[in-house]
Amino acid sequence: MSKLAIHWFRRDLRLADNPSLHYAAQNGPVTPIFILDTVNNTQKEFNLGEASSWWLHHSLNSLNESLGDRINCFSGDPLKIIEQLISAYEIESFSWNRCYSPWEIERDTKIKSLLKDNDIEVKTFNASLLWEPWEILKDDNTPYKVFSPFYRKGCLKKHAGPREVVEKNDYSFSDKLASSSDIDSLNLLPKHHWKDKLNKHWKIGEESAMEKYIHFRDNGLTGYKEGRNFPAQENVSVLSPHLHFGEISPHQIWFDIKSACPEKDVAHFHSELGWREFSYYLIYHFPFMCTENLNKRFDKFPWSENHDFLLAWQKGKTGYPIVDAGMRQLWETGYMHNRVRMIVASFLVKNLLIDWRVGMEWFNDCLCDADLANNTASWQWTAGSGADAAPYFRIFNPILQGKKFDPDGEYTKHFVPELKNLPSKFLFAPWEADDSVFEEAGINYGEDYPKPIVSIEESRDIALKAYDQIKG
Ligand SMILES: Cc1cc2nc3c(=O)[nH]c(=O)nc-3n(C[C@H](O)[C@H](O)[C@H](O)COP(=O)(O)OP(=O)(O)OC[C@H]3O[C@@H](n4cnc5c(N)ncnc54)[C@H](O)[C@@H]3O)c2cc1C
Repeated sequence: MSKLAIHWFRRDLRLADNPSLHYAAQNGPVTPIFILDTVNNTQKEFNLGEASSWWLHHSLNSLNESLGDRINCFSGDPLKIIEQLISAYEIESFSWNRCYSPWEIERDTKIKSLLKDNDIEVKTFNASLLWEPWEILKDDNTPYKVFSPFYRKGCLKKHAGPREVVEKNDYSFSDKLASSSDIDSLNLLPKHHWKDKLNKHWKIGEESAMEKYIHFRDNGLTGYKEGRNFPAQENVSVLSPHLHFGEISPHQIWFDIKSACPEKDVAHFHSELGWREFSYYLIYHFPFMCTENLNKRFDKFPWSENHDFLLAWQKGKTGYPIVDAGMRQLWETGYMHNRVRMIVASFLVKNLLIDWRVGMEWFNDCLCDADLANNTASWQWTAGSGADAAPYFRIFNPILQGKKFDPDGEYTKHFVPELKNLPSKFLFAPWEADDSVFEEAGINYGEDYPKPIVSIEESRDIALKAYDQIKG
């Protein structure tokens, strides 16, 4: 057997724009490996959730098809697995595209040393971020904590822009290694029947990701800047899980969309990719924030532990229709629209006073796009404890948000069908309707649909008083 050129697939489950794969292929066939890391994640509560695990299973299958069934799967501790590969095979080169979670950086640093100590050429590449987090610093060499200067001054004005897209070649892949397993042996498919619903909503893999992107560019991009706030409109790309698993790269999107129109929508779409960069940037520079408040004042916040409230929130039975619609969209589809994510997160943290980490854990389990960086930064942003965060005293009002962003109730009625006959003017505040309205709509209020679990005004006052205790 000739010496192996190993490419380690991680969150780059694609052939196009894959710098490490391209490098590994320069002298002949590549040996593609995937390792399910079951030991190193120090943020255990944010380990691969059920929806992500389901996605990964299908994404690996799709990738493996493109590789002509040559993927080599392993499960366990990557360091030990790579040690075994080193002793079993002659390895010419070993490469991967970088990941940025704190625990992945720590693990990869050790693996790099192991390979170097064994005189194996090891190379790592950028494949999933437009700007490396360590390249963007303020004039005083400290990291940004506010999005606008980070993006406008740090990223956009940086002399070297994002790297060019790497063209896909006709790569060839070596025969499977005797010591490897197949994808099924990774046991990624959850036992839960819940996953069966997800099949209806998604087409997974590199080809589908590109098709979805093109569909969005040609049909949803016009009007994106405003339309992205309205959950019933098709003005968002729904590319987040594809981006998370690297079925498409931000570089492919960034450059291609540049030539699209209108300019203001393109610029806004670019800036949302910028928010994604900012999340990765934050957890790179402040790794503790994946589990701890970035703003330490929040360490003293008197969070409540109300299991009944949490359950009502998770099940979409809070009595606030826009909140319930969002939570049910999550449960039905493994996705939630960004505007509604902000509404439900604010409701959990500020009206139910439940710790943002509890909400983040539920999102981590249910979202197909669950992403340590985006999930951490967004939850802390909503809670008010994060970088450039929404001030704690700014509390989303689910009634006004519903009226403004789902004016016809299309989104809410789709996910809360028991309210479909309620006249629109009561949809976001059903308690304002009298008995005859419910009778006419055929709704047994309190039975078919719950009454509010908390009063918005009272819970808001309690939250503000709690905040007064820590604001210093
Ligand atoms: C409480 C909360 C938790 C979240 N958790 C996650 C998560 O686990 N994973 C995740 O990918 N996103 C998360 N987000 C951010 C955002 O909601 C999603 O990225 C977005 O809704 C994905 O839909 P889309 O692909 O249609 O977005 P589009 O509007 O089409 O945007 C394109 C891409 O830009 C990025 N993006 C867009 N908005 C944001 C944002 N506000 N912050 C960071 N990146 C953004 C995403 O990668 C997205 O796919 C969270 C937001 C909130 C408020």
